[in-house]
Parts: sequence; structure tokens; C-alpha cells
Amino acid sequence: MSELSELYQQVILDHNKKPRNFRKIEQADRTAEGFNPLCGDQLTVYMQLEDDVVKDISFEGSGCAISKAAASMMTQSVKGKSREEAEALFDEFHRMVTGELDEKTTPNRLGRLTIFAGVRDYPARVKCASLSWHTMHAALHGEETISTE
Ligand code: ZN
Repeated sequence: MSELSELYQQVILDHNKKPRNFRKIEQADRTAEGFNPLCGDQLTVYMQLEDDVVKDISFEGSGCAISKAAASMMTQSVKGKSREEAEALFDEFHRMVTGELDEKTTPNRLGRLTIFAGVRDYPARVKCASLSWHTMHAALHGEETISTE
């Protein structure tokens, strides 16, 4: 097993066991639900926007370890960012997991999120890893539900 996949497994396990920002925001002004029927992942993203800054973001739901860990890390990455920065991260993450962006050669702001780069080799897993990001994106745009199908 390569070092990268060991790190990947550790991070996935950690976030799956202790998901960050796993709660409902009662006073959320944006809420979106995401479904990945292929795997059975479903989650709700709650967001509080203030002056175009993501003041708070959280999620609830159930799904596979990858979808849960990705959602946990998505909330950590997006919290405190401006709407524009959150959209830019979504774009970079999406391009990385679909193989359009090579995180090793292209400057990016993904940081620890690059551990998900390996899912590009598993098309079914790309949807698990990107579900929370699509849902966050939908919430920013005022859409209430998204499905990966
Ligand atoms: Zn999944």
C-alpha cells in the first residue's frame, strides 16, 4: 500500500468516526439535500451566510465512509470562506476528483483535500466524494435538492 493511500485511509476513518460539524444549524438560512442513489448516500447541508461569507456550515445524513468523510472535510474547508472562495474550492475539488486538475502540477488551494485525488480512478466513488460539495454548491445557489443521477 502506498503512503498516500495509507494517509487516505487514516483520514477517512478519523472523519467517519468523528465527523466535524455534524449537526443541524437551527437558524440556517440555506439548506440543501443531496442524494447519491448509486451508493445510497444522502445528506443535508446547513449554511449560514453573512455578508457573503459562510459564517457557519454543517451537515447531517447517512452514507458510506467516503461521503461522510468528504462532507466533514468540506465543512471544515468552506467555513469562514467567502462565497467566491467556496465556489472556487468546489470547482477545484470537482476538477481534481474527475481528473481534470492534476493537484501535483497545478497550483490550487485544496490543501488536505488532495487526499481525495485517488478517487478519480473509481468513477462510482467520485460521486460519493463530491456529493457534499454539490450539495453545498446547491445551497449557495438557493436550490433545495440535488441528485448525482
Ligand atoms: Zn457513497
